[in-house]
Amino acid sequence: MRFSAVSPYNAAAKLRLPEKVVVYDSTLRDGEQMPGVHFTLEQKTSIARKLDEVGVHQIEAGFPAVSESEKAAVKEVASLGLDAEVLCLSRALKQDIDAAVDCDVDMVLLFIATSDLHLRYKLKMTREQVLEKAVEAVDYASAHGLKASMSSEDSTRSDVSFMADMFGRCEHAGAARLGITDTLGCGGPEAVQYIVSSLREKTKLPLSAHLHNDFGLATVNAVAALSAGAEAIATTVGGIGERAGNVSLEQFVMALKHLYKKDIGIKTDGLTDLARTVFEAARLPMPANQPWVGPNAFSHESGIHVAAVLSCPMTYECVNPEEVGNRRRLVLGKHSGTHIVKSRLDEKGVSASQEQICDIVRAIKRAGEEHGRVSDDEFWSIVNDVVGRPAPNPDCVEKKG
Ligand code: MN
Repeated sequence: MRFSAVSPYNAAAKLRLPEKVVVYDSTLRDGEQMPGVHFTLEQKTSIARKLDEVGVHQIEAGFPAVSESEKAAVKEVASLGLDAEVLCLSRALKQDIDAAVDCDVDMVLLFIATSDLHLRYKLKMTREQVLEKAVEAVDYASAHGLKASMSSEDSTRSDVSFMADMFGRCEHAGAARLGITDTLGCGGPEAVQYIVSSLREKTKLPLSAHLHNDFGLATVNAVAALSAGAEAIATTVGGIGERAGNVSLEQFVMALKHLYKKDIGIKTDGLTDLARTVFEAARLPMPANQPWVGPNAFSHESGIHVAAVLSCPMTYECVNPEEVGNRRRLVLGKHSGTHIVKSRLDEKGVSASQEQICDIVRAIKRAGEEHGRVSDDEFWSIVNDVVGRPAPNPDCVEKKG
């Protein structure tokens, strides 16, 4: 009998996804915009190299207009000779585009807000002025030999027909890509799908989506954007970024691969190492329950789960931990049962009676209720107390001639 590791119903639904899916990772830009996070130049180049190694297609390396050192970092990443294309962010302003030109990037990600709220309180511009600025920026970038993408900031609160108008004019001005942004993460999958599919009808250019996780829907929204005809999705490692963060690279790639059977060529076994590098550089603790790459992503404590995992890992793991470069941890604590104890004793060739094993389990549960996780040292000291000096199993003793 064949067993399915993930629910078969997602793939059965036959979501229509584009032939080509592009990940443009923004760990170095939106990720670094997370309050309190700053990457040094060395950290940026090493993160960029690791992103390239796992096969990310495009790297958004920064926002050159922010500072001279930010600009230097973008320039440096662009000069590394990576397989990934290097992109940078730019307002629809000449001085920003000049900075991008200096960095010698493959494409500039222009943006201008399109929601009436942002027009009134931030840009203090009319819709006509926004259209003019957007077209001017695409023109200017193209004239300087830069491929230009134009995104409408705050798309999920913008009038779709106004965005369509702007995108049409930008396409005419020579833009290479157009992007929607759920800047506040305040659109659900239906909103994202509606906006992308409406704009899909109006332009032939590739569409991108930059999405946030404020309602915890970033990955869902990314899949929704693809299904509506977008082809490029902005991600960040671990989903770091402003406020609640962005689409997590790991979650997005793994959802596409396993739930929707779409392999986009990312080498998933490098994801845990990449996430550790980024969290360390950002001086952020890796959340224990971070999907796929966190220490608990493949940890089991409950006796029922451990017993089943020891018999067949797929019972409580729908992905093999090695596939994402992580590992399985069988943890001792108040939920432990006899199977993990037996398996640990067997590993070391220690024999114990059924009664002694039950005593060991009781002691582990007591310790777990006192202070949570039971360490290896503590486990062996419990074993010592219960069975005396652990006598090696005679079968495991090397026979001396
Ligand atoms: Mn953002």
